[in-house]
Amino acid sequence: MPAESHGVKLISMAFFVPDDTPMIWRGPMVHGAIMQFLRDVIWGDLDYLLVDLPPGTGDAQLSIAQLVPLTGAVIVTTPQEVALLDSKKGLAMFQKVHVPVLGIVENMSFFECPHCHEKTEIFSRGGGKAAAEKLGVSFLGEVPIDPAIREGGDTGMPIVVADPKSPQAQAFMNIAKTLAGHISVRNSNEIKLTIIQ
Ligand SMILES: [Zn+2]
Repeated sequence: MPAESHGVKLISMAFFVPDDTPMIWRGPMVHGAIMQFLRDVIWGDLDYLLVDLPPGTGDAQLSIAQLVPLTGAVIVTTPQEVALLDSKKGLAMFQKVHVPVLGIVENMSFFECPHCHEKTEIFSRGGGKAAAEKLGVSFLGEVPIDPAIREGGDTGMPIVVADPKSPQAQAFMNIAKTLAGHISVRNSNEIKLTIIQ
């Protein structure tokens, strides 16, 4: 049974290993774990199944692309040049295995000072959007680097639940709405295609 909180079901390898033990796994083990999570967990009816993968173009990405028909991939990046390079590789990998890339999210886009509200672009800003335009994929939005988001994560009370009207929560909601929109369009196009055939 997956853990459930705020209407979100979750399973993670972290539930099965002690906190101080690193996961050092070879490809077939990663493949096996992903297969178990997809097939043996009692998910019930879901609206969406999100799979949070480690960064890069490794075994987890390849396994999941081979095991299930994915609706699409979302690339999350920070705005600085070196992170964008990795994101571009990730994007190219998904395209190579015929998984549509639904868009790019820019994380840690800026820090807004809680005192004077001046915005500081710690890792630069706009790189995600520029990369999306250049690569011809949708830009889904940006998330600020913010203590409230981190606190929400640590205490198990996400910012979208704790303070849904805050700009931080709105950033997440807008990304989710845009992404859900893209998925609806994709799914309806696929249904049309099936009917024509
Ligand atoms: Zn300030």
